[in-house]
Amino acid sequence: TRTVGVLALQGNVREHEAMLASLGARVVRVRRPEELAEIDGLVLPGGESSTIDKLSRAFGVRDPLIERIRDGLPVFGTCAGLILLADRIVDGIEGQQTFGGLDATVRRNAFGRQTESFETELDVPELGDPPVRAAFIRAPVIEELGSAARALATLPDGHVVAAEQGAILATSFHPEQTGESRLHERFLARL
Ligand code: GLN
Repeated sequence: TRTVGVLALQGNVREHEAMLASLGARVVRVRRPEELAEIDGLVLPGGESSTIDKLSRAFGVRDPLIERIRDGLPVFGTCAGLILLADRIVDGIEGQQTFGGLDATVRRNAFGRQTESFETELDVPELGDPPVRAAFIRAPVIEELGSAARALATLPDGHVVAAEQGAILATSFHPEQTGESRLHERFLARL
């Protein structure tokens, strides 16, 4: 059995653990550098990207994690996790950094206060039918996707909200909160 880590510095760790366990994965929480050694893949959960960024540095896990992502570790980021995977971030808080790996520019809290959170049926051609029930919670969007990456889903307004590049998969929305398992399955298939 392959072991999947969930980065557990802050955010909605439990929902991902439950989803991964329901798909038969062995799941461990990752906070410290030495915990990276035992994993075959990693989920970066939603939460607050600037907080996760700060804590990753405080726990000394940032640099080794960046190295493992560069080495091709399968990674799945949702919401704040997408922000952390993007190579470029606009409107981050002062000093905010990302791990990078995904050739993309993200905008945080892209839907503003009015529509901070919403759910929608999202067509993800790669996953076929039915459409994905997608929960957007103070969600980011991908403003620009580099040529190394590929869009998996686009909102009617043209914003890319799911993308992949090599072993990296990232979504603006939270599939773990709507019982949508196909993206986790896609990630697990790479381990
Ligand atoms: N707005 C959060 C951030 O900037 C992301 C929200 C989420 O992960 N649900 O990190």
